[in-house]
Amino acid sequence: MTFRQLGLCPEIAKACEDKGYKAPTKIQEDSIVHLLRKRDLLAIAQTGTGKTAAFVLPLLQDIENQRKEQDNDNVILTKLIIAPTRELVLQLEKSIESYAKYLDIKICSVYGGANIKPQIKKLESRVHIVIATTGRLMDLIRKEKINVTKVDALVLDEADSMLDMGFVADIQDILKSLTILQQTILCSATLGPNIKKLSGQIMINPKVIEIKSNDRVNDRIEQVAYPVTLVKKLEMLSFLIGTKNMKQVLVFCKTKASAEEIVKNLKLDGLKAASIHGDKTHGARTKAITQFKENQIRVLVATDVAARGLDITDLFYVINFDLPFMPIDYVHRIGRTARAGKNGIAISLLDEYDVATIREVEKYLNQKIPKLDLDGFEVGTRMKMIATKTIVETKDDIKRKKTGGAFGNKKKNKDKKTVAKQRGKRIIGQNR
Ligand code: AMP
Repeated sequence: MTFRQLGLCPEIAKACEDKGYKAPTKIQEDSIVHLLRKRDLLAIAQTGTGKTAAFVLPLLQDIENQRKEQDNDNVILTKLIIAPTRELVLQLEKSIESYAKYLDIKICSVYGGANIKPQIKKLESRVHIVIATTGRLMDLIRKEKINVTKVDALVLDEADSMLDMGFVADIQDILKSLTILQQTILCSATLGPNIKKLSGQIMINPKVIEIKSNDRVNDRIEQVAYPVTLVKKLEMLSFLIGTKNMKQVLVFCKTKASAEEIVKNLKLDGLKAASIHGDKTHGARTKAITQFKENQIRVLVATDVAARGLDITDLFYVINFDLPFMPIDYVHRIGRTARAGKNGIAISLLDEYDVATIREVEKYLNQKIPKLDLDGFEVGTRMKMIATKTIVETKDDIKRKKTGGAFGNKKKNKDKKTVAKQRGKRIIGQNR
């Protein structure tokens, strides 16, 4: 099957060819024909499956068709794409621009945390497609700076994240303004009850495409985990990056504070690093991502929310400095590697707190992640046994963790306690 055979024009097919796509991915093959017929779509698929092109290409084609039908060059906003974060919005904009490079299609992205005026100016110059975060879009609608009355197709990308972030009421509000909407596309990594409910409310007889659970992690990603004590975690991170000679590595952690701490430590170890998280300005985040893509820095440290939508070609290594709160975020994290047919390695560092979480991840993936020992970083037998599930945690273990873990124990030596307090407690306690 080729892009042309799916009903796309030569300009779009050529743009895909330029990006090195040899054939449509499964989700593209399954959805494009239906979308071109204006059917609603519920796509349960993660990033890495080619889902973006699956909905973008037919939208571009539809704009082209509408132009030919109308036989004039009026630029009308007809396609609206909503995404949970500004990073994803920018990523989408970049992708769409590349797919539309041989077409005269005008695109505008609008998102919070940036000056609204240039965005308004761009909208005034007229565009066909708007990509938006919910808050900024609502703001523009309220200020009557965007005209959505002609929007005929709406995409909610990473809708599960939007619901998790509490945007459901906003989405319902936005929908009220879309009076001639003909097509709704909802992409989500999971099909939870909230997504089912939302799709039931806003879609009519959608085509449902689900990339099955055993595809949750693509098998080109090699996954490994290293049990390590909390006090030696930062050291292990630098050691792995150095000894494995990782040239470009994305490190994930749960909190802003730990992201900062990790960067500080990596720099002390002579590794060029930067972080992206919710406290960084948009400019700082963009700069860090660009430097990382251009190999000016070796390590990018990111929290889960900040990394949404990151698409780094040829990224080989992802390291989980800690495990995320939700197993699905583990999938999102490691899905940054092994993209577009390439291979990748995902390494998780398991401290006293993560050894139990990894089981949740394994249960979710229905797959075991090998636990390896690293010379010089050996852990005690008990922790090792918990990590490899030879024994399970007792209630006491869990209680100890909640009250400060092994380092909460007064009998531990002072040094260890101080380091743990600086690293461990801060790492665990803060928000993203
Ligand atoms: P997505 O799932 O949309 O985040 O896309 C993941 C990656 O796959 C991106 O780097 C795309 O450029 C790439 N991709 C999308 N469609 C194809 C295709 N048909 N062939 C090869 N790579 C693709």
